[in-house]
Amino acid sequence: MSYRITLIPGDGIGPEVTDAAKRCIEATGVKIDWDIAYAGEEAKNKFQDLLPKVTLDSIKKNKIALKGPITTPIGSGFRSVNVAIRHALDLYACVRPAKSYTGVKSYYKDIDLVIVRENSEDLYAGIEFEQGKPETKNLISEIEKYSEKKIRPDSGISIKPISKFASQRIVDLAFQYAIKFNRKKVTVVTKANIMKFTDGLFLKTAREVAARYSGKVAFEEALVDNMSMQLVQKPHNFDVLVLPNLYGDIISDLCAGLIGGLGVAPGVNIGDDLAVFEAVHGSAPKYKGLNKVNPTAMILSGVLLLKYIKEDKAAERLENAVKEVLAEGKSVTYDLKPTPNDPTAVGTREMANAIISKLKRF
Ligand code: NAD
Repeated sequence: MSYRITLIPGDGIGPEVTDAAKRCIEATGVKIDWDIAYAGEEAKNKFQDLLPKVTLDSIKKNKIALKGPITTPIGSGFRSVNVAIRHALDLYACVRPAKSYTGVKSYYKDIDLVIVRENSEDLYAGIEFEQGKPETKNLISEIEKYSEKKIRPDSGISIKPISKFASQRIVDLAFQYAIKFNRKKVTVVTKANIMKFTDGLFLKTAREVAARYSGKVAFEEALVDNMSMQLVQKPHNFDVLVLPNLYGDIISDLCAGLIGGLGVAPGVNIGDDLAVFEAVHGSAPKYKGLNKVNPTAMILSGVLLLKYIKEDKAAERLENAVKEVLAEGKSVTYDLKPTPNDPTAVGTREMANAIISKLKRF
């Protein structure tokens, strides 16, 4: 059996890390027919379009994609190609496991968290009104008709929509994930004590969803400020976290920090029947084409992809191969060495080769 999967190399370091991940996935023996599609700078060069329709069509058709990072263009009308992909395909959940691996420098050991972030609304919905514009002034006077609170006339405004529908589906996904991967607890993280009608709705909905899973998965509630402190003090107390968009963005970077940084943090954006796998890190343009950066985050995104297509054995073998290479600390990139100038650091391609050699031994 062969799977057809969209491969978007991305730009900056994207082509190098996706090539490493592709070769590692192929080395597991799982047969994949890659449908190469472009987004970002390369798409602009080829199609004069940062996000061509053929790319979106390819993901819709194949249902699964492995995507490299894409640089956010400056002054192109696009806020971000990544955000545009998520919106166009309604990839409403961003799932980011944060797991410790021996050999990766970190203040913590044995972290095993999963962050489930709502991707489609909240302050990131992109409904913004610029300071000084006539429509912004109109909006301010309109709001003041309905609220006793005053807004300074020279304000910019961002709208924070949170719906019952989106809250329900993200919390449900977090519980489904917990059941599928044998997780014990889901913690909902909000600021519901202050934002009662948005975060409050998210929390109320989470309680309703949690009631359906009662007896199967434990449920707890936390406030995002307190959660930030607790994650730093006792991260082992947590399991799956589910959050609205903005807090999810911040907390998932915090959790990437707990496990040693962006070089080892994988992720996936999920819609109802679509999944786009990608590293948490960006396109690091200054390292483009240097064969220097760490491919681990992208390869671990490949491990998540293999689990998603139910190739569990291949996923386990690939993760074990990554673990061994990290633990040995020999064939690893500069960021995994004791100092960044360590002359024994290997390149992106060579680290992937070392992982592939381990795979062959298992
Ligand atoms: P970045 O993650 O690209 O890089 C920040 C720094 O982290 C790098 O300079 C490098 O020191 C380190 N780093 C990142 N990935 C690494 C790796 N694999 N190995 C070793 N070190 C690594 O973040 P940035 O500089 O803020 O963003 C660069 C561009 O990427 C921006 O245009 C941003 O919008 C975009 N971006 C894209 C995505 C995505 O495609 N999903 C995500 C985040 C940022």
